[in-house]
Order: sequence, then structure tokens, then C-alpha cells
Amino acid sequence: MTAKYYRIAVFAGDGIGPEIMKEALKVLKIVADRSAVELQLTHGLLGGSAYDACGTPFPEESLNLALESDAVLLGAVGGPKWEGLDYSVRPERALLGLREKLGLFANLRPVVVFDELVDASPLKPELVKGIDILILRELTGDVYFGRPRGVTRDAEGKRTGVNTMIYTEEEIRRIAGRAFELARGRRKKLLSVDKANVLETTELWRNVVTETGRDYPDVALGHMYVDNCAMQLVRHPAQFDVIVTTNLFGDILSDEAAMLTGSIGMLPSASLGAGRALYEPIHGSAPDIAGKNIANPLATILSVAMMLRHSLDLPDAAAAVEKAVADVLKDGWRTQDIHSPGSRLVGTAEMGDAVLKKLAGPGR
Ligand code: NAD
Repeated sequence: MTAKYYRIAVFAGDGIGPEIMKEALKVLKIVADRSAVELQLTHGLLGGSAYDACGTPFPEESLNLALESDAVLLGAVGGPKWEGLDYSVRPERALLGLREKLGLFANLRPVVVFDELVDASPLKPELVKGIDILILRELTGDVYFGRPRGVTRDAEGKRTGVNTMIYTEEEIRRIAGRAFELARGRRKKLLSVDKANVLETTELWRNVVTETGRDYPDVALGHMYVDNCAMQLVRHPAQFDVIVTTNLFGDILSDEAAMLTGSIGMLPSASLGAGRALYEPIHGSAPDIAGKNIANPLATILSVAMMLRHSLDLPDAAAAVEKAVADVLKDGWRTQDIHSPGSRLVGTAEMGDAVLKKLAGPGR
């Protein structure tokens, strides 16, 4: 059997980016060696490190590398060193540019509470135990891009601000299709979140999601208003499986849901487009702990698992990585951010090695 071949662009980025990426790549390599895939990993510059080397946070070469790749794996960008720069060349601009140029329209954020970390949540353990939610946020439409936008002044100098909430039915159908497919691969329960009682744009959202659902009779579709969803996420989060929502509502709800876990160093993400994808931890470059070998690499390792599942068609390998992470936590290994009395405090590299050992199996 010939091995499937994939090109992966790797941008370690700034701050803790290179440290966590090193551990994630160890995991990716061991999994690839065992599966019927051949990977070509190419490293590129993005963010502050790219600005230092080339005078721009998003060099043409990096864009081309990303466009020629099957998937992009990113650490994190930014840091105080570049905060005084003009907005147009700030490291974070590179992220926006990358997402736009790759046409990424679906942001996936799994929110999983590992049994061993229930105490890290600000909610009571009995509320968060066993939580496994997938939030799907539309990324290309809504008030972030709609026109008209801006602040105008009338003849008397009084200011008016305007942003436009806008969605075409094609945009809604595209994200809804992804949502149903993802729900099909899970517990077959999809909740669409809108504000259809007062916003016509999201009334259209609700109607198009419902129409799309006719092609997925095996998936139970529900609808909820965003204000109620914000409340339910803290009242009874275990009721959710897959949540699909607009760019603005998803921005807010995904951060709220992330906090259910109480541990930013554990949360991966994926942004998917037509045939392109970007995988990254949800946290930033954590300049306060960079270079100290104390950052948690698990969010980036779990981002690799998402890449195995969504871009490399290796769901079993993805599950194996997720299980290895769960097993390491079960054994009591903790980086500083998730450490509690009685657990075993380890550094970034040791945590990566612990996951590798679990993947290698007993006795290796
Ligand atoms: P941050 O996520 O970098 O850090 C917030 C807090 O969480 C810090 O105390 C940090 O030490 C801790 N933390 C983050 N990741 C951790 C990990 N893996 N292990 C242990 N602790 C971790 O957010 P911030 O401090 O607001 O931003 C720092 C820089 O990162 C800024 O320049 C910001 O613009 C940038 N940023 C980048 C991204 C990205 O690349 N996607 C996302 C958010 C922020």
C-alpha cells in the first residue's frame, strides 16, 4: 500500500510557541511513523519573529507555504516586544491575514473537561464532569465584515456608530453543512444558536439551518437564543453536544465555554476552509513564562490530534493521542498551570515525553 502524502506548514511563532511546538511535533512524528502517511513538515516564520527577520509579520514566503500545504500548525504569535509597532505590522495581523487568505470559514473549539481536571473549573465539579462540547463558529461573515461600518458625524458634530450584521444564505448553508457532518461523527445532536426573535439576519440563519437539516434526518436539531445559551452554558453545560453559531455570538460563547475547563493550556482549535485548515492552541504566546520550560504543551498536542482527524483522515490516531493525554493526566502529571497539591509537577518537555511514552505503549 502506498503511503498517503501530506504537506504540513509549521509556524512555531513567538513566546512559548517554539517550546510547545517542539513537543507537538514529537507526537506528530511518532504517530505518522506508525500510520500509513508520509509527512513533509516545512517550518516558516510568522508573527514577531517574522517581523524581526523580514520586516513583516506575514512574509509572502509564509503565505505561499501555507497555501501549498494540506494543513497549517501554529504555536502562537505576539508579545510585548512588538506592542509599540504600527497596527499594520503587529504580529497578530499575520493571524488575521492567514485566516483570510486560506478562506477559513469554520472555527472548531472542542471544550472537554478531563475527569482529573474537574477541580480546575470555576463551576462545581458535578456540573462540568464529563463535558464534551464542540463549538462551531462561523468566521467570515457577520458584523466583523458587514458594510456600512464606521463612525460618522452629522452637521452638528454628533457621532453615530454603525456596524452591519450580514449573512448570505450560501454562507449559512456552508457552515450548517459542516455542523451537521461534525454532529454525525459525534452524538448526533446539533444546537443552532441565534437571536431570531429580534434579528432578521439570524431569522434567516435559523431557517437555512433548518432547511439544511432535512438532508441529515439522523441528527437531532435544536435552536436556542443566544442569551439563553450563555445562561445554559453555566447552568447545565452537559446538555450540549455540537453548537453552531454566527461569528459574533461564537466569539463570545466559545470564550465562555472555554472557561468551563478553567485551563487555557489544555484547549486546542481548528479553523477549516474548503480543503484548507489551520490548527492552533487557543492560548496566546504567554510571554510571561516563555523560555522557562513551564508552558503546558497539551493544547498544541491536542491540536495535532484535531489535525490527524480533520486533515489527515486518521481518526484512530487522533483518538490515540487524546487517550494518551488523558492517561498522562490520570497518572498525575501536571504542568504548573494545572498543578494542584498531590500531583506531579513537570515541565514542558517532560510533559511532551510523558505523552510520547503513553503512545509508545507499555514497556517501551
Ligand atoms: P496568553 O494566552 O498568552 O496568556 C494568558 C495567561 O495564560 C498568561 O498568564 C500565560 O502565562 C497563561 N498561559 C497561556 N498559555 C499557556 C500555556 N500553554 N501553559 C501555561 N500557561 C499558559 O494571553 P495574553 O497574555 O493576553 O497575550 C500574550 C500575547 O499573545 C499577546 O501578544 C497577544 O496578542 C498574543 N495572543 C496570540 C494569540 C494567537 O497566537 N492565537 C492568541 C491570543 C493572544
